[in-house]
Amino acid sequence: MPANHRIGRVVVLPFISLTVLLTGVPGCSGSGGPEPPSRMLDAEAHSKTRIRAINGVWDAVDAGEIERPQAREMLKRVIWSRSTYWSTRVAAINSLLKDTEGLDDTRTMFALLVPTEKSVEVLERIGEVCVNRGWVNIAPSFVRAWDRNTQEVRIDDDRPEPATLTALFPDRSLPETLFEVFSGSYQEGAGVKFGEKDRRAAWGLLVRSASDDDQITRLVGQVGSVDRHADPLMWAVARSADRFGAVPKTAEQVAWVRRLLTDPVNSEFVVAAERAVATLNAEQRAGWELRHLAPVVWASRFEPQLMNATRAQLLNQLESELEDRETFFRDRTDTAWLGGESLGEWKDEIVWADAVALLLAARVVQTAAWSTESLHAELLDQADADHADTSTEYGGVVHWTDSGMPAFDLFPPRVNSRFGDDRFVASEELIEASDTALFHYHFHAMRTRNADYAGPSFSDFEYAKREGRGCLLFTLVSADRLNVDYFQPDGVRIDLGTIERP
Ligand SMILES: [Zn+2]
Repeated sequence: MPANHRIGRVVVLPFISLTVLLTGVPGCSGSGGPEPPSRMLDAEAHSKTRIRAINGVWDAVDAGEIERPQAREMLKRVIWSRSTYWSTRVAAINSLLKDTEGLDDTRTMFALLVPTEKSVEVLERIGEVCVNRGWVNIAPSFVRAWDRNTQEVRIDDDRPEPATLTALFPDRSLPETLFEVFSGSYQEGAGVKFGEKDRRAAWGLLVRSASDDDQITRLVGQVGSVDRHADPLMWAVARSADRFGAVPKTAEQVAWVRRLLTDPVNSEFVVAAERAVATLNAEQRAGWELRHLAPVVWASRFEPQLMNATRAQLLNQLESELEDRETFFRDRTDTAWLGGESLGEWKDEIVWADAVALLLAARVVQTAAWSTESLHAELLDQADADHADTSTEYGGVVHWTDSGMPAFDLFPPRVNSRFGDDRFVASEELIEASDTALFHYHFHAMRTRNADYAGPSFSDFEYAKREGRGCLLFTLVSADRLNVDYFQPDGVRIDLGTIERP
């Protein structure tokens, strides 16, 4: 019988039979005595009562009071019931396992249950069972659960999912196991359909649990040749490591390199990026990330002299350009304790490629090279539109024009992704339009005198980390002025000065 059918039957246990079960077994519920099996389904009953019913279920089967399939269905119903207290559910898991004839079905049920399971205790118990029985094909289910349960707060300490994955494969490191899952192993009988989204999640967890970048590079290095069409995801990751000299760091970045490398519209950029990366020396490769590709492609095309400058030279240039600019520092407790926004404070963290990106960003504010008037008018217009819309913050992506000037393409958030005037949520359209973009940007424009917020927030940095991007932030400090900040995933934030409505 197909696994899904069985599970389906549990969920749709007919109401009529449930009523009979709940009311039809006469009075053996006196204190301390055996409970009728149906009492396990009684949400009103005390958990001790329900557990007694659970523990007595196989005696009831032996006594001919209920059939074995009926017993399994009731136990599975308790296990699936997310509103039931965990100790009752764990008792039902333990009882279900006593039915040794039904172990294959139980294993399938676990594989289907785990991906959406939130209870730590239930995950721990199922993990323990799978480890003891060598049910390694539960691995993709635990990967999905781990990703889902840590979406908001990416804290992995003491979680049952990584602990289970580690115990399931004692001869391997956790990143090695995650790489196997990313590669598509353990699918047979896994219960869940493990698609590209799950594989991307596995990659994100792999990077998070890796000891260092070398470990990731070693794993990718073992891949060998991958067919681009057979497995575009694996191909893109391996290709990114090989040609771009950088690997994606999160699930979102895996999606990015896959689009970047496989969508034909990006092919000109990809060729230019590969060529630029091939010329980089050791200093230029230090701290090299995917977000550096676009600024460096821009530099090699429009300001090739930057490609020959040392990090120290670039920083000197940046220092003199930023001198005398009027700055506004964010004064909010969420990020202020992490440092200010001056170049001097962050200099040591800025690698060569960051300095290239920063020089380019600094020119949005002021440069002799371009006439920035129309650019500034456009940015103030966009800020006005954002200010007028109290449902969200606005944002977009920065591309360059044929003359090398930055262009700001606005992508107002979708109607269903608006969470308040101080929140910016990048739409899928924005993300997909940003494969070759220099930066992502957004506004802090909930009020015209918003200087206290003139710097990236904690969630802005989370965004930069997730997407792996350098970002620009424009904050209204008066009706006709915007303060400009650059920030990047590692916490570097630099105030680039202020622009005025022309
Ligand atoms: Zn923000």
